[in-house]
Amino acid sequence: MEKIDEVLERIEKGELSLSRLEKELGSPNLAALARRAYLEKTLGVSLSAIASTILDFEELYGRNIENPIGAVQIPVGIVGPLRVNGEYARGDFYVPLATTEGALVASVNRGVKAVTQSGGATVRIVKDHMTRAPLLWTPSIVEALKLEEWIREHQEELKARVGEVTRHGRLVEIQPFTIGNLLWIRLYYKTGDAMGMNMATIASDRICKHITENYPGEASCVALSGNMCSDKKPAIINRLLGRGKYVVAEALIPRRVAEKVLKASPEAIDYVNRAKNLLGSAAAGSPSYNAHIANIVAAVFLATGQDEAQVVESSMGFTWTELRGEDLYISVTLPSLEVGTVGGGTRLPTQREALSIMGVAGGGDPPGVNALKFAEILAATVLAGELNLTAAIAAGHLASAHIQYGRGAAKQRKEARQEH
Ligand code: NAP
Repeated sequence: MEKIDEVLERIEKGELSLSRLEKELGSPNLAALARRAYLEKTLGVSLSAIASTILDFEELYGRNIENPIGAVQIPVGIVGPLRVNGEYARGDFYVPLATTEGALVASVNRGVKAVTQSGGATVRIVKDHMTRAPLLWTPSIVEALKLEEWIREHQEELKARVGEVTRHGRLVEIQPFTIGNLLWIRLYYKTGDAMGMNMATIASDRICKHITENYPGEASCVALSGNMCSDKKPAIINRLLGRGKYVVAEALIPRRVAEKVLKASPEAIDYVNRAKNLLGSAAAGSPSYNAHIANIVAAVFLATGQDEAQVVESSMGFTWTELRGEDLYISVTLPSLEVGTVGGGTRLPTQREALSIMGVAGGGDPPGVNALKFAEILAATVLAGELNLTAAIAAGHLASAHIQYGRGAAKQRKEARQEH
């Protein structure tokens, strides 16, 4: 404690910065405690809730967090059983959703019930590749085209370089884009069970070094990420060409299930999908045509330790419906779902447990199958979420559901019943 008091005094005097505490105290857990103490004193706030965590910063510092002060907690609800008929996920699954939005878990769960009672969601992974797109400078369009040709001719050599920096990463394709004298190379990687962004970045660095050291003409690397990747920004290139897992989930909902579970007819659901999700999104200029894919993707990402900023592109997608005789066909297409079961936040204890609920924690055998299975389960959950919200709007239930679950009306009614 004496050491912490001394450190606090030096921070107050401006002799020590908050980011130097790990070095000063020799322990990330002690550093977190000292940072909290400093903030509590100077800001006059209590951080006892943020302090309350099972996280061990000795484990996380330098891998998952800098300047730690504690943790925030997000409630986790469960939906299921959800029947998934995928190539990697086959059977009934429970899916954890981390959210503070009342009504979300109940809403998705009703969709899950309808999908499962309809025989489940069929899911297929159309493409699987993580991308990084370095930007290369050359003096002219003539040189840019020469460089593009050189890269094409030396593809195998470049692929071999990747094996020097990763066991699981593999370069599968190089796609060039030219603007003026500049050349982007969109590099496509298989990344096993990792979402793959670090892996692809490290491998792309190796590739760029090889190009600039060996290309006989004039070329330099302007940026390892030239934004044609495109990471954590809404981008049509991801929607068109895919990034991470390009996944489609579909189901045929019999009329009796739509009417009994969702309280809406196939015709009403189909009309709301076309008018709201498709036409409404087009009118708004949105690159994404759906009801609320982001709700489900964000909640599963938070529960399972995915990179939450990648909700931006992972939640881009289309919800499509057709009337099939008496029944409703519905599909969701997620062209850019970036998920992993190893690496990043997936190693944190609560997030790892959440992955284990779906049987996808850690590396798969063979590597890659756990991430593919996870992507299929997540796409099926998104399908359930889209089905339910579109049906709730068709039945005019949206506002009442939020009053019931989001504003605590259900709880108030229960308390009132108990009082009388
Ligand atoms: P990572 O933890 O950096 O890499 C995965 C590690 O797991 C590698 O060391 C890999 O070994 C190993 N591994 C063990 N079993 C594996 C298996 N079955 N499949 C795949 N790899 C296996 O994770 P990442 O997915 O590449 O990167 C995720 C992190 O990147 C997140 O923290 C995210 O927030 C961050 N991120 C970084 C950038 C960036 O530009 N660098 C951008 C966005 C996000 P080998 O490499 O030897 O195969």
